[in-house]
Amino acid sequence: MTKRRDFIKKSVLGTGSIAIGSMGLSCKYSISNPAPTVDTHPKKDWHTDPEWSKIKYGDWGGPGVSAGPGPMDTVLVKDYAPRSSVVTKETFVPKAKYPVIDCHIHVLAKTPEEVAEWVRTMDEVGIEKSMVLSEETGAAFDALVDLLPKAYPGRFLLYCGMDMTDIEKPDYSERVVGELVRCYNKGACGVGEIIDKGFGITGNTSLTRDRTLHPDDPRLDAFWEKCADLKMPVSLHVADHPSCWTPLDVYQERSPDYQHFNQFGKDIPSYDELIEIRNRTLEKHPDTIFISCHMGNQGHDLEKLSLALDKYPNLYIDTSARDYEIGRTPRASARFLIKYKNRIVFGTDQSRDKSMYQIHWRLYETDDEYFVGRVGWRYYGLELPEPVLKTLYRDTANRIFNL
Ligand SMILES: [Zn+2]
Repeated sequence: MTKRRDFIKKSVLGTGSIAIGSMGLSCKYSISNPAPTVDTHPKKDWHTDPEWSKIKYGDWGGPGVSAGPGPMDTVLVKDYAPRSSVVTKETFVPKAKYPVIDCHIHVLAKTPEEVAEWVRTMDEVGIEKSMVLSEETGAAFDALVDLLPKAYPGRFLLYCGMDMTDIEKPDYSERVVGELVRCYNKGACGVGEIIDKGFGITGNTSLTRDRTLHPDDPRLDAFWEKCADLKMPVSLHVADHPSCWTPLDVYQERSPDYQHFNQFGKDIPSYDELIEIRNRTLEKHPDTIFISCHMGNQGHDLEKLSLALDKYPNLYIDTSARDYEIGRTPRASARFLIKYKNRIVFGTDQSRDKSMYQIHWRLYETDDEYFVGRVGWRYYGLELPEPVLKTLYRDTANRIFNL
């Protein structure tokens, strides 16, 4: 046993030629997919790095077989699409068990015909209402009022955005509140998606760090307070998936599909600093409901997310675009969703394809195993209890939006 383990370890560390073949895949990743802005690809033989072995093989110590070179040495990570041989139960769930409010979707239709098509899909899959995070103000917002909620009362609810012009002028705080009230009077029921991935909510990458407008900035105090007065929840996306702050090299957690979101090496706050900015905002404005998007970008660390939910009663989260966090840790995720069901709303943030909705129902409602997810990961169904599904799909949203 010991002998075999030593042999494997030696192979992994590149002291024998046997294991090199199985490692080609990772090498190709680093060489063929350079980071867009930062050179994170020193010509390095990763196989000689003990950390590489530890991360790739963990306590298995190596591939466990006598790996050898072959045609897969030229396969790129971005092309790798393993066909599973697993034969197991596959459940098709055409329609959600309870009517669903999708609390995180953007404008996915431009014409009345496209909207009609969207409504047909909503009917087929069981979406009762779509909360459209328009991010718009002014005339663009007004046009969406006509296109969506006015055309289909009760089926579409519309969020407005935030005036982000001339943020350094002294009248900004007053202006941003004025436009909020105007949109509210036109029918806006929430605000967002307000996004700060490090460059502030304007996303202006040319502003220096001392001039960016983060959510905890005093210039926004009156705005958040007005959201509370008007009972308008705010969908706030602060930070991003933590892997964005790590280099695009062999250790990058997410697949190349996500590399354009990478923030590594940019002159912006760290992931942890951004989460702190969100928490300070929650603390400063306890009467404002903040829906922290995408599992609060903490879906990878549910314990920390639980601590935040326990500490800030005005913090809510949506599940949108984090199916891959939920599906890869089904037991911990199910426990979390059950415990915090009154603080979590359902969201998609993807297309309006029928199958996109239906795969969500499979994830939440069935106990199917090892089905295709995103990021190249496989998911496991959560089989949530019926009352939890009902709360996650609709009841929490009904409560916080006073529907
Ligand atoms: Zn987002």
